[in-house]
Amino acid sequence: MSEDKPPLIGLSREELADAMASIGIPEKQRRMRASQLWHWLYVRGVSDFSLMTNIAKDLRAKLAEAFSIARPEIVSELISVDGTRKWLFRFPARGAGRPVEVETVYIPEEGRGTLCVSSQVGCTLTCTFCHTGTQRMVRNLTSEEILAQVLMARDRLGDFPDTSTPQGAIVPSEGRMVTNIVMMGMGEPLYNFENVKKALLIASDGDGLSLSKRRITLSTSGVVPEIARTGDEIGCMLAISLHAVRDDLRDVLVPINKKWPIRELLDACRAYPGLSNAKRITFEYVMLKGVNDSNQDALDLVRLLKGIPAKINLIPFNPWPGSEYECSDWDRIEEFADIVNRAGYASPIRTPRGRDIFAACGQLKSASERMRKKDRDTGTAA
Ligand code: SAH
Ligand code: SF4
Repeated sequence: MSEDKPPLIGLSREELADAMASIGIPEKQRRMRASQLWHWLYVRGVSDFSLMTNIAKDLRAKLAEAFSIARPEIVSELISVDGTRKWLFRFPARGAGRPVEVETVYIPEEGRGTLCVSSQVGCTLTCTFCHTGTQRMVRNLTSEEILAQVLMARDRLGDFPDTSTPQGAIVPSEGRMVTNIVMMGMGEPLYNFENVKKALLIASDGDGLSLSKRRITLSTSGVVPEIARTGDEIGCMLAISLHAVRDDLRDVLVPINKKWPIRELLDACRAYPGLSNAKRITFEYVMLKGVNDSNQDALDLVRLLKGIPAKINLIPFNPWPGSEYECSDWDRIEEFADIVNRAGYASPIRTPRGRDIFAACGQLKSASERMRKKDRDTGTAA
């Protein structure tokens, strides 16, 4: 990726045509060139202009001089015994003072491969059980950087034509390697709405990456004013980080609740565009020992969600160094799940994946703090 050359990845078709105009491509050719580029970038997955064989050599050179389509640097790639992969990518500083590092996680299952994508470096919110929440917010990711996580995963998994899947990799037994995207990495996607929207519209474009909007889920801690727009303008699936059924507790666990309390949040959910029994909202509920895991909490949960087409996802708390919570005991989670099941919600416990590589939900934290330490060690800190 380049700090100085403008990227072509992450631009809408119109912006791509405008970019062609900026290097003197005649108006009549712009749309055609934009479509060619779109195909190379998102169907073929190339990251080098010289591979674009249906574009004349001199034009390829001109494009390469003016624009970047390069991938970010891979700082590390960890592979769990269960096949989960975690990448740490480095993106240019773009005003943040220094390059930033972002984590992306791939979770293979029998019939699907889910990519957990980050939307920000750090997070402005401070949910008390979340590792990312302990990190200061560095900056929003651009649409290019959000898409780059998807493109990189597909590169590394051999999920583009003309590439091959690494030997021994655990991937779905047939079909594509990356079939689903969840915006559940670092950051609050609805505090970076425009870039997330642009990236997801490109990811779901039928002539490109072609992910169905049914297979793209955006998770929010509850930024109520942006929820309707998420349905109207992106049209993806919605997940809500609920985690508590009472405002006094949710104020502590998910402090954005003080701004938009449970009632307002659930009203926005009820009004979510396109909501139906076939298109339900997922409510995420992290199981914290002795905090939110009583039978009464479970009963209140199903009562609260009554009338909303919903799925419930119970997430065993993933501890991180210094966290003040513990995961509920397994018996407790099962009893809680039984109550939820009896109310008609099927198998709601999410199996933790990639624990050995610290890739589980809520454990993602960029390396900016590690970098600060490294800078200290090498004496380069400001
Ligand atoms: N900011 C968005 C999306 C990223 S977090 C949001 O909060 O929804 C993705 C999910 O992981 C959220 O449901 C979040 O509450 C959950 N999570 C965070 N820390 C966790 C932890 N330590 N253990 C389990 N789940 C966690
Ligand atoms: Fe941010 Fe989501 Fe973590 Fe809360 S749970 S601090 S909103 S990333």
